[in-house]
Amino acid sequence: LSLVAASAMVLGLAACAGGGGDGDSAGGDKGRIGVAMPTKSSERWIADGNALKKHLEDQGYTVDLQYAEDDIPTQVSQIENMITKGAEALIVASIDGTTLTNILEDAASQDIPVIAYDRLLMNTENVDYYATFDNFLVGQQQAWSLLNGLGLTDLEGKAIEGAPEGPFNIEMFAGSLDDNNAFFFFNGAQQELKPFIDNGTIVVKSGQVKIEQAATERWNGEVAQSRMEDLLTANYSGGDKVDGILSPYDGISRGIISALTDGDYTLGDEWPIITGQDAEIDSVKAINTGEQYATIFKDTRELAKVAGDMAIAALNGEKVATNDDSTYNNEIKDVPSYLLQPVIVLKDNIQKELIDTGYWTEKEVNG
Ligand code: BGC
Repeated sequence: LSLVAASAMVLGLAACAGGGGDGDSAGGDKGRIGVAMPTKSSERWIADGNALKKHLEDQGYTVDLQYAEDDIPTQVSQIENMITKGAEALIVASIDGTTLTNILEDAASQDIPVIAYDRLLMNTENVDYYATFDNFLVGQQQAWSLLNGLGLTDLEGKAIEGAPEGPFNIEMFAGSLDDNNAFFFFNGAQQELKPFIDNGTIVVKSGQVKIEQAATERWNGEVAQSRMEDLLTANYSGGDKVDGILSPYDGISRGIISALTDGDYTLGDEWPIITGQDAEIDSVKAINTGEQYATIFKDTRELAKVAGDMAIAALNGEKVATNDDSTYNNEIKDVPSYLLQPVIVLKDNIQKELIDTGYWTEKEVNG
């Protein structure tokens, strides 16, 4: 068996596996598209990568899919490689949105269109389009799910009549400060929580209400766990309980849950309301058991379609579909964007939103 034949077989196997592997794919001859993803440490990016690969291959493109394990130099060299190997369009979900300026300049100098995927590419002229969700709404939905869990509002933030007066103790977590989305999530949530903080229904006991104080570097669950442990020790040792925790991402929520269970919290009446994002399977299960109250479901299959179609249209010089051209400014320009709608998932709509839509199977959720 020649090496070429052997690797063709491997490629064939990878393709049979539903585009699950990263690296080069045996796609069609319509062109080559580079897809740079931040990390495999979070399920959602694996789902994004697979969905993009499948969508592009189905339309006859060859896909060069790479994951950078949250290491910036790795992501830079992966994109460099994609360009060297002849990528005709790039789809990039950055680790740090500000660190790709030079490589994006290279892409622009070769007329390679660049699509920012989910996370905006900052401080550069050389990003053509942005495919994402309405990230401010994601933040609002996170706040609404927290308020809903506390019995204060419905899931659109409307006050519930006869709601408890509180005060409720809450703590807030934000995402990684090198990710523009973190600001949208946090600001969206803050806007909705502020009236309840102002009138004393909600108290942030630690006083840590600034994004810099609440941030979680690289969205890392362990970082969140240790901050939660510190918050409990510093603010809740005297018998007060934390009633709610605003978390921007399921991995962070799982870190928070570990800190609570390692502390003196047990699931039951006094268990706090915890939010999340991404509908990761472990967190969907945690919603079923009551450890997590809600997540925000962003259908990565839809995002992959939108971003993939943007890349295809751009590389063929066709009109690119966008529905927003002013919300997302990257410090240099407003990047024409396509925003998808996020959905709040609680225990009672897991079936409808996640299982009936085929995002997770019944067995994955309940098995
Ligand atoms: C994404 C979120 C994700 C987070 C951590 C953000 O940029 O929009 O969906 O939870 O990164 O991976």
